[in-house]
Amino acid sequence: KREQLEQLATVEAITKDGVALRLVGNISSVKELNLAQKYGAEGVGLFRTEFLYMDRNTFPTEEEQFEVYKLVAEKVGSSTVVIRTLDIGGDKHLDYFQLPEEQNPFLGYRAIRISLDRKDMFKTQLTAIVRASAYGNVKMMFPMISSVDEVQAAKAMLDEVKEELEQRGIPFNRDMPVGIMIEVPAAVMIADLLAEEVDFFSIGTNDLVQYVLAVDRMNEQIAHMYHPYHPAVLRMIRMTVEAARNAGIDVSVCGEMAADERSLPLWLELGISELSMSPQALLRVKHRALNTVASDARRVAVACFRNRTSSETEEQLGAFSQRSG
Ligand code: PEP
Ligand code: MG
Repeated sequence: KREQLEQLATVEAITKDGVALRLVGNISSVKELNLAQKYGAEGVGLFRTEFLYMDRNTFPTEEEQFEVYKLVAEKVGSSTVVIRTLDIGGDKHLDYFQLPEEQNPFLGYRAIRISLDRKDMFKTQLTAIVRASAYGNVKMMFPMISSVDEVQAAKAMLDEVKEELEQRGIPFNRDMPVGIMIEVPAAVMIADLLAEEVDFFSIGTNDLVQYVLAVDRMNEQIAHMYHPYHPAVLRMIRMTVEAARNAGIDVSVCGEMAADERSLPLWLELGISELSMSPQALLRVKHRALNTVASDARRVAVACFRNRTSSETEEQLGAFSQRSG
């Protein structure tokens, strides 16, 4: 079965009735990029940079980061890589960076909040990413955005960085696209305002589900309540897509939901064509796309968006997936 799937690596991801999808990889390292490319990823939809900061004793320098970002940019070639700025806090820690003891780490000092507080560290990373933009199609993305102020503050720092590079005579792409993760309910509710500030959205369903449902994604005791197909989650996703569409910016999905091949009808109905997932999921989702008739899938999805419970949606998506073969 695995071998059969591997033959799909070079096949285009397209439904039976001709709807093309762009399947890209979530990676944390160059090794994972190789795997994603082996499995036919058309690019990288999420480069989780925190892993560059882990398993060491000090923050990585600008030069160390630049070398990795540049290598990834070069390896994706004519395709694109979305580099996400540091997303520590919550469940991710660094040995050399003392985070405060918190009652609710996922509601605490995390991701962009740390970056905007520790400007020295943030600036180093921004500089390394912007420098890498001279070597390939690099896009930059900020995690855990919950307000327009945060986006504006991050963009202001980015402008500073660009100005400094300009003065140093170092090349970079002036038009590097800048986007944000949509993974906090507040961001969904103001998606129209945020869309005026950025070039693209990437929906992070892992955190979005956790925050919409108030279900800790790490808590085993309530794991049975973690429902990606909850009507509240589906409405949030739809709102995000509508805001992006009205503003004319791109929107993709990079959470685990994208890797669940049963969810394909939802993306087809919403008109989302870019899905980013772990390398291991790429061929499975492509196989599903190749066996799906988009017009049938959309009908199923329309019903799902009207459902009152997640179990109905899961059942209908599961049944459709099985029927499609
Ligand atoms: C997400 O929250 O869906 C996401 C892709 O980011 P992470 O899993 O790294 O928090
Ligand atoms: Mg997240």
